[in-house]
Amino acid sequence: MLQPTESTLGTSRALTRLAEDEEIFRDSVYEFADREIRPLVREMDEHAKIPRTLIDQLFEMGIMGIEIPESYGGAGASFFHSVLAVEALSRVDPSIGVLVDVQNTLVINALLRWGNEDIKQRWLPKLAASTVGAYCLSEAGSGSDAFALQTRAAEVPDGYQLNGRKLWITNGNEADVFIVFANINPASGYRGITAFLVERDTPGFTVGKKEDKLGIRASSTCELLFEDCVVGRDHVLGEIGKGYKVAIETLNEGRIGIGAQMVGLAQGALDHTVRYTKERRQFGQAIGDFQGVQFQLARMAIDVESARLMVYNAARLRDARQPFLHEAAMCKILSSEVAERVTSTAVNLYGGYGFVRDYPVEKLFRDAKIGQIYEGTSNMQLVTIAKQLLS
Ligand SMILES: Cc1cc2nc3c(=O)[nH]c(=O)nc-3n(C[C@H](O)[C@H](O)[C@H](O)COP(=O)(O)OP(=O)(O)OC[C@H]3O[C@@H](n4cnc5c(N)ncnc54)[C@H](O)[C@@H]3O)c2cc1C
Repeated sequence: MLQPTESTLGTSRALTRLAEDEEIFRDSVYEFADREIRPLVREMDEHAKIPRTLIDQLFEMGIMGIEIPESYGGAGASFFHSVLAVEALSRVDPSIGVLVDVQNTLVINALLRWGNEDIKQRWLPKLAASTVGAYCLSEAGSGSDAFALQTRAAEVPDGYQLNGRKLWITNGNEADVFIVFANINPASGYRGITAFLVERDTPGFTVGKKEDKLGIRASSTCELLFEDCVVGRDHVLGEIGKGYKVAIETLNEGRIGIGAQMVGLAQGALDHTVRYTKERRQFGQAIGDFQGVQFQLARMAIDVESARLMVYNAARLRDARQPFLHEAAMCKILSSEVAERVTSTAVNLYGGYGFVRDYPVEKLFRDAKIGQIYEGTSNMQLVTIAKQLLS
């Protein structure tokens, strides 16, 4: 029988064994989150707001421009690093996790792939230094059926005029640049969809109502209004009529980031619960000494680790430029279900204290729900997976 040797062990590294720079990076993001974000979590949830000073710190850390090449002022790291950052932040606060996720895996990702040199020169240094971005596809009538969007673009002498409304836009409150999908030729169906870069102060563009949400309350979710909003020709991202490709391809990658958010969230709930079950005493002993409780903790740990493996695998495949669609859809479903299950058990193990805001797991339970909804609902992920199986 073949025995593993030093060399075979060396080449078959566990998927969760990170490279040294990845480990240092993940730990430094977590240490930052633990030190600077944790004390603000409850207040941010209650006031549904992220302080600008914290966003500035995220920029200073270099985690708002992870994949931006150094030549444009970014960190020049990989997609996998973005996944690690989102996971580490979400372990403390999934609202900060999604702010950083949208910035890196959707906005910057789309610009890196679809932006021409002029767009990259104009936007990437700002996104790396101080500008928050938002990604604007969904509307009141088009969520899962995203390409039924009703926002229209019309060619005018100065460029393109946008009219319509977007709904549910993450970072709407903080963003200064918005990637907006509008249809320039509805007769061609989805082949009329085009991506535009819209600056916050563009006349005719207004950020509307902010949603009052169940979870990830600090993360802003806003309506956007476009009324005869004119942007220049140099604000088209990618080609006219190819916005559907920008949207599909970016979201395929983005959902790995949501997987990372859910893994971090579930890990955070497990951390709290392990600590609590060691401290809380009933029947004269720590509740963690009861084997029934130990088994629940063990199942939580299995859940978190299996979801993490799937997320890391999808992210590694993406960085290796190998097909990852199937794996991305699977990791998003699994990790969001894990987050719901793990946080629910966390609430149970905290007992009554799990049901009140003075303790942290009630918030994580609320935060977990979004994982099964945004960047493609679980049903839409199942559609993707089944389509590949049956093709
Ligand atoms: C907090 C938050 C943040 C968000 N951030 C953004 C953002 O930054 N940018 C952005 O563009 N959007 C964003 N969204 C929108 C999000 O992506 C959509 O809510 C999501 O895609 C679902 O669309 P919907 O809400 O219209 O639900 P619907 O599409 O109406 O779905 C309702 C239900 O029907 C099911 N369903 C629909 N079609 C099918 C089908 N063919 N087969 C089986 N089941 C189906 C769905 O799975 C779901 O259970 C955000 C949403 C929220 C809540």
